[in-house]
Amino acid sequence: MLAVLQALQALPESQRQLTSVLRRHPRPNGKFYAKSQLLDAYLQLVEEGAFPADSKLRRRLRGRPVRTISGVAPVAVLTKPYPCPGHCIFCPEQAQAPKSYLDGEPGVLRAIQNHYDPFEQTHVRIQSLHALGHSTDKIELLILGGTWSFYPQSYREWFLRRCFDALNERESATLDEALRRNETAAHRNVGLVIETRPDWITPQEIVALRQQGVTKVQVGAQSFDDRILALNKRGHTVQDVRDAVRRLRLAGFKIVLHWMPNLYGATPESDLADFKRLWDDPALRPDEMKIYPTALLEHTELYDLWEQGKYQPYEEETLIELLIRCKTTIQPYCRVNRLMRDIPSQYIVAGTTKSNLRQIVQQRMQQRGLHCQCIRCRELRGKKSADFEHVQFEDVVYETDVTTEHFMQYLTPEGYLAGFLRLSLPHEPRDLAEIPLPEIREAAMVRELHVYGPAQSLGRRGRGGQHRGLGTHLLDRAAALAREAGFGELAVIAAVGTRPYYQARGFTLRRGVGRGVGAQCYYAPTTTPLLYPIRKL
Ligand code: SF4
Ligand SMILES: [Zn+2]
Repeated sequence: MLAVLQALQALPESQRQLTSVLRRHPRPNGKFYAKSQLLDAYLQLVEEGAFPADSKLRRRLRGRPVRTISGVAPVAVLTKPYPCPGHCIFCPEQAQAPKSYLDGEPGVLRAIQNHYDPFEQTHVRIQSLHALGHSTDKIELLILGGTWSFYPQSYREWFLRRCFDALNERESATLDEALRRNETAAHRNVGLVIETRPDWITPQEIVALRQQGVTKVQVGAQSFDDRILALNKRGHTVQDVRDAVRRLRLAGFKIVLHWMPNLYGATPESDLADFKRLWDDPALRPDEMKIYPTALLEHTELYDLWEQGKYQPYEEETLIELLIRCKTTIQPYCRVNRLMRDIPSQYIVAGTTKSNLRQIVQQRMQQRGLHCQCIRCRELRGKKSADFEHVQFEDVVYETDVTTEHFMQYLTPEGYLAGFLRLSLPHEPRDLAEIPLPEIREAAMVRELHVYGPAQSLGRRGRGGQHRGLGTHLLDRAAALAREAGFGELAVIAAVGTRPYYQARGFTLRRGVGRGVGAQCYYAPTTTPLLYPIRKL
């Protein structure tokens, strides 16, 4: 790494030359260093006094501001290695990494370097984002690793408290205190994401997740075919996925489903049919998706099946064609976050190792005049030419098993998404046995509000989409729609750092007596805590 930095330092500024230096100094596995890795090494070496500070070199190593293009800086933090209740045949297990993760993955490497300490992981990541020139006052925390719901409650509370201590830049005695402090902290939490199994989304878990400040839940669905789920020993059914999605939706969470093509027993045809169930089945219809083609890894049961000739990964071409066909079916209310998991190629025994699968799929689609209408493909990602002054409103309405969903979007004349809001109107008052949260029993629910543009500092008007009032317009439209539909209250699922935003727009948190849970939620011990800002209509 030092040799690369020295070679770079000796060069005049030019991207092409930088690329040629990276080619001449490959990593031990033959791949090239990313600029962010070099920047991390640079910062560390300078700190250790092993390399002279060089502001020009540091500027050249800064990434383009893509990481925060959606308006928020993501910080991924991994939980410690811990067992998972699942026995999925494709899932790797390593002593060093949480279940389903591998110690060569970038996030895992960072976690190991920081001894899985949540404070250190969060702190170091924010520092490096800052060094890369990104705004870090709005942070989405992604808690990754195995099954969050399976970790002991005491570990979960400690883990989150330490993440928030790092955001707050000071220590708190309890999670409640840490969450409350974050409302006015330098690095505000605007989203908190966990990943778990569908059969662990119980009514009690719904309340626990809200108390922890979680706003988005990634659910490992993997397939919507009970035969495939059983063959791969997932240990849950499609109905478990439906139940999880229903509960999460009614409680206002944003729902991410993970789906895996090329599982044991699947064919490209069955996979395409499976994928279409996402939109055809009203009990699914997720807000976001991660597509993770099955990777064949050593020390898994799937590997044994492959050795016995009972399993074969798809040819790369077959997979690409399948993904293209899947993408054309995606509905405009869904965002496809990933098309491939970032598994280091040395672990993949057979099958594609292409990390740029998404670009290949996208290029092919363009050549054929095909479009993916998902949110990510329509996001305003650094498009300076987009015309913000003439955005058009559009309401995409769809039904689920328990709600009418309004995906309310503002589009620029070029068709880019400038902002959107997800409004859920439950068909019936919520069943308190299923969703034990009386305060939202009869409320309409804002599940997501997103305005695009490069991450702007809080409260400043930027050139991008943020702070131009689109969010306020969307909230007012949602309130009007909910009122027309007969709702008396509008609730919103809000990360602690966004609560002041909603309070400034007519939402309140009830302050009662009793113990605090969540940010400002004080409640009498006999009642359920109020975990959602609510606006009277
Ligand atoms: S549930 Fe997830 S982490 Fe657990 S064994 Fe299955 S794939 Fe692995
Ligand atoms: Zn897309």
